[in-house]
Amino acid sequence: MEDNITKNDVPGRSLNFIEEIIEEDIRTGKNESRVHTRFPPEPNGYLHIGHAKSICLNFGLGKKYNGKTNLRFDDTNPVKEDVEYVDSIKEDVRWLGFDWEDREFYASDYFEQLYEFALILIRKGKAYICDMSPEEISDTRGTPTRPGKESPFRNRSVEENLDLFARMRAGEFPDGARVLRAKIDMTSPNMHMRDPIIYRIIHTSHHRTGDKWCIYPMYDFAHGQSDSIEKITHSICTLEFEVHRPFYDWLIQEIGIYAPRQIEFARLNLSYTVMSKRKLLELVQNKYVSGWDDPRMPTICGLRRRGYTPESIRNFADTIGVAKRDNVIDINLLEFCIREDLNKKALRVMGVLNPLKIVLDNYPDDLVEQMEAVNNPEDPAAGIRQVPFSKELYIEQEDFMENPESKFFRLAPGREVRLRSAYIIKCESVVKDPDNGRITEVHCTYDPETKSGMPQSNRKVKGTLHWVSLRHAVKAEIRVYDRLFIVENPDNAEEGKTYKDYLNPDSLQVTTGYIEPSVAHAEAGRKFQFERLGYFSVDYDSTAENLVFNCVVTLRDRRPKENAK
Ligand code: ATP
Ligand code: MG
Repeated sequence: MEDNITKNDVPGRSLNFIEEIIEEDIRTGKNESRVHTRFPPEPNGYLHIGHAKSICLNFGLGKKYNGKTNLRFDDTNPVKEDVEYVDSIKEDVRWLGFDWEDREFYASDYFEQLYEFALILIRKGKAYICDMSPEEISDTRGTPTRPGKESPFRNRSVEENLDLFARMRAGEFPDGARVLRAKIDMTSPNMHMRDPIIYRIIHTSHHRTGDKWCIYPMYDFAHGQSDSIEKITHSICTLEFEVHRPFYDWLIQEIGIYAPRQIEFARLNLSYTVMSKRKLLELVQNKYVSGWDDPRMPTICGLRRRGYTPESIRNFADTIGVAKRDNVIDINLLEFCIREDLNKKALRVMGVLNPLKIVLDNYPDDLVEQMEAVNNPEDPAAGIRQVPFSKELYIEQEDFMENPESKFFRLAPGREVRLRSAYIIKCESVVKDPDNGRITEVHCTYDPETKSGMPQSNRKVKGTLHWVSLRHAVKAEIRVYDRLFIVENPDNAEEGKTYKDYLNPDSLQVTTGYIEPSVAHAEAGRKFQFERLGYFSVDYDSTAENLVFNCVVTLRDRRPKENAK
């Protein structure tokens, strides 16, 4: 499928539906033709690839239309939020290549203003203090087909509501004792219009406002008003907020403030993973993964650690475009994007992950030749390097067969192959372990006339293998990853199961690899193509004594077709 993926980020591609709306607004002079977007995370977890989509979209539109994009933390729930998350979010947005300049905002900066907005509603008789317990409120909301029941506190006087609200703020009541509710319509077919809660009591310190507040606005009350305060022109959010929009509009109108335009698009879902912050948190807390940045996680820090580049993720976001309907994007597309990027950038090296010892019987015992190898055929500026060659080498086990199948063109008894950037060799005999019959060594001869790059070296053979000089190879820990889940949609669990029942027990495999010495001092984050295998990135755990590589992605998807989808 890889070759069929068409890109829509090419100049002249047709506009997506959000761009169409924005261009129409610019044309008609709405908001003085300003474009101002924002990315509004709640700092209650690390960002994932779905957020990356939203970041690329919002910052991308800001850039494209010469506008601005704010970073705003929707920090309305002190119980679940933390500065750790704020810091990680900033790091991730920056790493993706976007800049909010001096526009770093927090809903908590607006708490006083939001409180004033609530007072406006109370004074207009559009909000009331309700003393029902959270359970009672939820029990009287009704269902989409059955109207809710009005609260017995619904018709409190404005004076009493003002008094109680002030006393809520002053800390007179315990958590859950009272809430402020909008007074809209308990019979509305839209459940979000049935007197939704807009303020609640939480006696918990907030990571920014400390103990200044013990009442906190609900997300739905803070979000739209924050957009309004920031004069956001296009509030882009995911589809599940479409049903909240009438409530947002109602609030803006009743309070009488600037109205941004909300536009919903389909959230990104990716196959073979989960994207809900709650589930990702659970994977971390219950140690199913090593942390938020485990390279199997769909988090931005996990992808970064795995070896993904910002360009590949931006490119992925562009390629999938914006949809109006929920869908699941094939994870192969993400892998396609990183292969494409690293193909241009990663230096080629040779490394053997599953070694088979080769002895060149006619090669001088102590000779070491430096073979010239091209660093990146896609990038002439990357130059060449020297790779040491000697009598004893490793090749991959898979590149040798004692009794070759008909389509096998690699090394086999009596056959010749080329060792990349070196010589043509011929297999003469094998040595086996007498106990178990396993091949321990393959003896070959090399043809000195076939040194790579020499004029007489043009003799053709069918197979070219990567190799590494046994004596010079650096040992490295290689972490190879598979999908985190064994099914395409782990959220869609069978009766009696949860997404955790679909975790892939073999999603991490650690092996020892033997890599050419040029990688010996590579620092964390450096990426290479191990020729014929895949792309590998130096892990943060790597040290001079113990090199550690993450497999970013194999060169081709090696899974059998039915699993590879
Ligand atoms: P929560 O359930 O905690 O609200 P969330 O994933 O919606 O989780 P937010 O921090 O509220 O997290 O998200 C910030 C922004 O990222 C929102 O505008 C949201 O619409 C967008 N976003 C979140 N998940 C996705 C996704 N999978 N695809 C596209 N955009 C997303
Ligand atoms: Mg959200």
